[in-house]
Amino acid sequence: MGQLLAVKDLTVKFALRRSSLTAVNNVSFSLSRGERMGLVGESGAGKSVTGFSLINLISKPGYIDTGSILFEGRELTGLSDEEIRQIRGNRITMIFQDPMMTLNPVLTIGTQMVETLKAHGNISTRKAEAVAIDKLRLVQIPSPEKRLRQYPHEFSGGMRQRIVIAIALLTEPALIIADEPTTALDVTIQAEIMDLLITLCDLSKMGLILITHDLGVVSEVTEKIAVMYAGKIVESGPTRSIISDPSHPYTKGLVKAIPGNIPPGEPLHQIPGMMPTLTDIPAGCSFHPRCEYAGNICTTQIPDLAPVPSRQSNVACHMISGRLAPSDIGSAARRKRQTAIAEELPA
Ligand code: SF4
Repeated sequence: MGQLLAVKDLTVKFALRRSSLTAVNNVSFSLSRGERMGLVGESGAGKSVTGFSLINLISKPGYIDTGSILFEGRELTGLSDEEIRQIRGNRITMIFQDPMMTLNPVLTIGTQMVETLKAHGNISTRKAEAVAIDKLRLVQIPSPEKRLRQYPHEFSGGMRQRIVIAIALLTEPALIIADEPTTALDVTIQAEIMDLLITLCDLSKMGLILITHDLGVVSEVTEKIAVMYAGKIVESGPTRSIISDPSHPYTKGLVKAIPGNIPPGEPLHQIPGMMPTLTDIPAGCSFHPRCEYAGNICTTQIPDLAPVPSRQSNVACHMISGRLAPSDIGSAARRKRQTAIAEELPA
């Protein structure tokens, strides 16, 4: 498999009047042709901003501050709006959570598909319709010739998402970025859409970046994952080994929260606390206020993402790198608990 995408030290910021906020911090990953990768984390982790920045879809005042995005051997940072438009919707396409973000409610599916094809190349209406029918068939829309004449509201939610996938396939892209593509659908339809994406990727050697908060979905669809927290990758590697034996405390919490991992009758697992906002990222390891293992070093020093000996994964945690002495593990969390108790005691 040749390399399709290499993202290196990508940093995305949002400009303020006199300063800036960092939404994506020094993120690196790569994808081979036909490979499927998950970008995982809670809301606010920076995964969607990372995905959008690949095709320059971050809205102002967001901007790529530093880093490199090499796609099919071409550097994407620094391209003009017109040059990036040629790649977006052509070699790289996107699928969003809400199909109606892509579909125009007042145009038939056929008109929208034909217009998309015409926008990306010199093609006759008759030929474009034939391609559209072919793609609708590929995503298993029954009677595609008839369905082409219908409007989005005449389809169910699952069918609409299939049509969005068919539109994404029109230009034979090398990479699809799917942002929570099934979150709005019920579980059975979700599984069908995911199966479809896997089949299509295999069929046409298309890369997939699946952006989701749902580690359960990622475990079934992707070959590798990058877990993001507060704008950084905290753990990355092969999906199977990370799901079966996560290293980073945040990944451990996410894995425990997969509904299938919870014995019947037991309450859903929740990681205590909340993802920090961009204006309030804690010093040291940004996960330390929520981490039961946090020691003193975690509150002051940022852990590097480093390979874990004996594993194929990379992890950013002082405990894993051995910089957190066993006697110190949990000391920060203990101190926080003691302070909370002391504050509640009558003076
Ligand atoms: Fe927890 Fe410290 Fe590891 Fe961060 S570096 S995840 S606070 S043990």
